[in-house]
Amino acid sequence: MDSYEFPVGGKFGEGFYIAQKFGTENPKFGYRFHLGEDWNYIGGGDSDFGSPIYSIANGIVSLTADYGGGWGKIVRIVHKHPSPEKGRFFFIESLYAHLYTIEVEPGQMVKKGEWIGTIGDAGGSYPSHLHFEIRAGFGSALGGGYSFGTDGFFSPTKFLIAQVSKEKLMNEDQFAPALEKSLAP
Ligand SMILES: [Zn+2]
Repeated sequence: MDSYEFPVGGKFGEGFYIAQKFGTENPKFGYRFHLGEDWNYIGGGDSDFGSPIYSIANGIVSLTADYGGGWGKIVRIVHKHPSPEKGRFFFIESLYAHLYTIEVEPGQMVKKGEWIGTIGDAGGSYPSHLHFEIRAGFGSALGGGYSFGTDGFFSPTKFLIAQVSKEKLMNEDQFAPALEKSLAP
């Protein structure tokens, strides 16, 4: 139950970058903080439209829905996560938004790496990308993807890197947008 993978680009998120980080203050949303990460394929634009999205860990699908508007189609999955206190655990929920297709049903058990949907654009609201959140607990209100506080939300890539670091050394910077990389000294 303590084994994780990235939601796109295979086990280690290869070929993808983060267009908007967790915690970014977005002026389009009243300078609220972004509560997830926006994942794009390095080809940019809509090059990731229809690409597979994978469950980050074993879990149970808690919700699938089409909210339309800015959210579009969403999948939420509950995972059991080991607590630092030996023998204990807590629940987290992963949330995948703006999907083109949903490939799972509520109540379904899924395995880490299982194909759960495909990347979309929330019905043309954006260039296609995956908005991805990791929440503490489960069943919290959907919200708006932005808020003045980030309590109850994990920085997804920090969280995942901490988990997969036993298998591979990774660094958040490897998911920086190509533009930022090219501007780096
Ligand atoms: Zn987003």
